[in-house]
Amino acid sequence: MSWEDRVRKVVPYTPGEQPKTDHVIKLNTNENPYPPSPKVAEALRNLKTDDLRLYPDPAASDLVHAVAKNYGLKDSQVFVGVGSDDVLAMCFMTFFHSKDPIFFPDITYSFYDVWADLLEIPYETKVLKADFGIDPEDYLAPNGGIVFPNPNAPTGQDLPLSRIERIVAGNPDSIVIVDEAYVDFGAETALPLLEKYDNLVVTQTFSKSRSLAGLRVGCAMANERLIKYLNDVKYSFNSYTMNRPTIALAKACIEDQAYFKSCCQKIVATREKTEDLLRKLGFILRDSKANFVFATHPERQAKEIFAYLKSRNIYVRYFDKPRIDNYLRITIGTDEEMETLAGALEDYFKRSEI
Ligand code: PMP
Repeated sequence: MSWEDRVRKVVPYTPGEQPKTDHVIKLNTNENPYPPSPKVAEALRNLKTDDLRLYPDPAASDLVHAVAKNYGLKDSQVFVGVGSDDVLAMCFMTFFHSKDPIFFPDITYSFYDVWADLLEIPYETKVLKADFGIDPEDYLAPNGGIVFPNPNAPTGQDLPLSRIERIVAGNPDSIVIVDEAYVDFGAETALPLLEKYDNLVVTQTFSKSRSLAGLRVGCAMANERLIKYLNDVKYSFNSYTMNRPTIALAKACIEDQAYFKSCCQKIVATREKTEDLLRKLGFILRDSKANFVFATHPERQAKEIFAYLKSRNIYVRYFDKPRIDNYLRITIGTDEEMETLAGALEDYFKRSEI
C-alpha cells in the first residue's frame, strides 16, 4: 500500500469564477451590487490592530446576541460561522449521522452532495417536478435527514411555509435543514416554525442580502438542544472559527435593519424589471424569489450565450449539468448593470440573425 491509498480523495465544489480584473459586470455568484451598511464602515474604522493580539471569543457571543435579538430568539438558539457554507458543513457533520440516506433535490445547491461525499453520508436526490418545484410528498419516506434551500438555487423558486411545514412535521425523527441563503428577497422564512418543531434548523447568510460575501458570516437557528450539539461539534473541530474583526463588523451590520430592508427592496424591483427585459428578448423564466433569475431561451444554447456574454465582460453562471444545461443563472445587479446585460443580449440576437 502506498500513501496514495491512505489519502482521502474528494471531488471538490467548484465556486463561480472570481475574475481578476475590475472591468467586468459580475452576475455569476449572487453577490449584492450595493455596499454593506455604513455602520459596517464605521465599525471597520473603529477596529484596533491591538485587538488582533488576542484570540476571539470562541462563542462569538456579541454576534450571536445581535442575531438572536434581530429574530426574537434566545442566544442559545443561534450558532454563527464562517459563511453559511461553514455553518452547513457543521450541520451536515452534526445532524446527518445515521446510516439512512439524507434527502435533497436533484437540482439544488451543488455543495450538498460534496459535503455528503466528504463526510460519507449516504444520500438520495429527489427529482424536482417538471416546473422545477419541490414536492413535499417526496420527502415523507424514512431518511437520515433533509436539506433544501428556500428559495431553491439555482431555480430561484420558493416553497410556501405550509409546504415546508408538511416536510418538517412529516419527519419528526430526523433533522430538516432549510437553507435560507436567499430568503430575504421575497420568500417566507421558516423561523416561526421553530416554536413548534424541535427537528428544524434554519440557516441564513450575510453574503447576499447583507452585502458581506467577502467577510464570511452565516448563522443557524434552531432549538437549544440542536444548537448545543452543533457547538459541541464545532468545538471539537476548531474553537475560533470567527475572528474578532468579523464579529464586530457583522454585529454592526445586523443592527442596521433599515439599510438592509432598503437594499432588498431595490434588488427586488430590479429583478422584476430584469424579468421583463429577458422575457422581451424571448427568454423563458419563472418569477424568482431570490437575487438571481434562472432563464432559458428556446432558440439559443445557454452555453453559447454564456460564452458571448463573457467575451463582453459580463459574467453569468452556467451549469453543465443534466436538466439545467440550457439555462443561465443571472445575479441581479444594479439597474444600470442589468440594462447593459440586456443591451449585450440584444446585440447577440442581432448578430446571430445574420
Ligand atoms: N446556500 C446556498 C443555496 C447558496 O447558494 C450559497 C452561496 N454559494 C450558500 C449557501 C453559501 O453562501 P455563504 O457561504 O457565502 O454564506
